Amino acid sequence: MVCAEQAVGLVAPLSGVAEPTSHQVGLVLGRGADMALIVQKYGGTSVGDVERIQRVARRVATSLESGHQVIVVVSAIGGETDRLDALGRQMAVHPDAQEMDALLAAGEQISSALLAMGLMALGHRARSYLAHQIPMHTDAQHQCARIEKIETAPLMASVAAGVTPVVAGFQGLSEAGRITTLGRGGSDTTAVALAATVAADECQICTDVDGVYTADPRIVRNARRLARITFEEMLELASLGSKVLHPRSVEFAGKYNVPLRVLSTFKPGEGTLITMENELMEEPIVSGVAYARNEAKITMSGVPDVPGVASKIIGPVGRAQIEVDMIVQNTAADGLADFTFTVGRKDYDATLELLKPVCDSLSARALSGDNRIAKVSVVGVGMRSHAGVAARLFDAMAAENINIQMISTSEIKVSVVVDERYLELAVRSLHSAFGLGEPSAGEREGSPLA
Ligand code: ADP
Ligand code: ASP
Ligand code: MG
Repeated sequence: MVCAEQAVGLVAPLSGVAEPTSHQVGLVLGRGADMALIVQKYGGTSVGDVERIQRVARRVATSLESGHQVIVVVSAIGGETDRLDALGRQMAVHPDAQEMDALLAAGEQISSALLAMGLMALGHRARSYLAHQIPMHTDAQHQCARIEKIETAPLMASVAAGVTPVVAGFQGLSEAGRITTLGRGGSDTTAVALAATVAADECQICTDVDGVYTADPRIVRNARRLARITFEEMLELASLGSKVLHPRSVEFAGKYNVPLRVLSTFKPGEGTLITMENELMEEPIVSGVAYARNEAKITMSGVPDVPGVASKIIGPVGRAQIEVDMIVQNTAADGLADFTFTVGRKDYDATLELLKPVCDSLSARALSGDNRIAKVSVVGVGMRSHAGVAARLFDAMAAENINIQMISTSEIKVSVVVDERYLELAVRSLHSAFGLGEPSAGEREGSPLA
């Protein structure tokens, strides 16, 4: 089973979800807010080693000592899920998805237990919760399962008794009693779904960057932190590759009105609030630049230009649960067409294999591909009412002599596919072409990254 990271609209309706609360914006630790119920999620870098787990424990303890109730969600120690994944892939070319989930979920079991111990060492009562102990029910789509229902009674009883729950993120329980996982980066979704279900006052995604930036600050030095961003834009950025938030977590937050904030685990600050569109006073034309590195494109050239061909090509790909992103068909004068589409790079070989017999049966001229491409996108709700965004993007690419291989647009985004070699250059030039940066990189105090 392949997880369609980019796909949105996949959030299952959560049963038993609490009525949305009013947004308690501006709830920042240490600022004297009244007692609140907060879900705090800590990512892999934040719990990267024992010393960091102890720092996270102190941070949670600070919230508790300020009078807040906290439900903690943790990711695996940074790099651990990759390590487990690599182990599984050594056992089989196509490892069993259910056993892969049992394997991958182990990382969060370790970090949740360690963090609970860290809290106890500080004199707080705490306990770890694995998905099956809550339980956190999902569907049975292993490696990209969707949360369907979370039992809140045991967790809330624990909170009420003063025992802070430390929930293993990323994992779930299928109806068949198997361990599932939510797709890479899915602990964000665990946290937001939990926050929705318990009607938390705020869901805080505590990470290695102090908010959502106009572009990945690892690539663009003068990227600017956004104090606020709309759900709609954040969903688009996340779906187009900005991994600061898992796309489904943003979707949950929008659907269930969860106040969602991204902030640094180790640096003070208000981070970025993900907010409803009409709360923003002005809508910039472009709010951010996103990129996705792991893309691949496949072209079937010289296919007959007749009805039904697109379905014959894309049909088998979809049935194999492989997510197709952009699709372009160029019609030639001789009644033949070239059909090109993109898939995730991990699905490249499987897709080519799948299409070899289709290429033969259509008597197409050739089947070819390129798995060294990347997608770069600009996103902004303001572009709805402004023409010329695509033109400005094309000008910026032309000025850098970057060839655009494919283009796709929607109401609030323009995406282009380029050679992977030009990815960073493309991101930086778009960031500057749309005037997104700080006036000077030197004006920023310190690095946004932990
Ligand atoms: P965690 O392990 O805490 O879940 P992730 O690595 O998943 O953290 O996400 C944080 C990373 O997201 C940052 O280190 C940063 O490189 C990257 N990132 C990509 N785009 C953005 C953006 N627009 N704003 C902030 N960070 C971004
Ligand atoms: N540990 C999982 C991963 O690395 C989930 C997460 O970090 O959110 O993808
Ligand atoms: Mg993450």
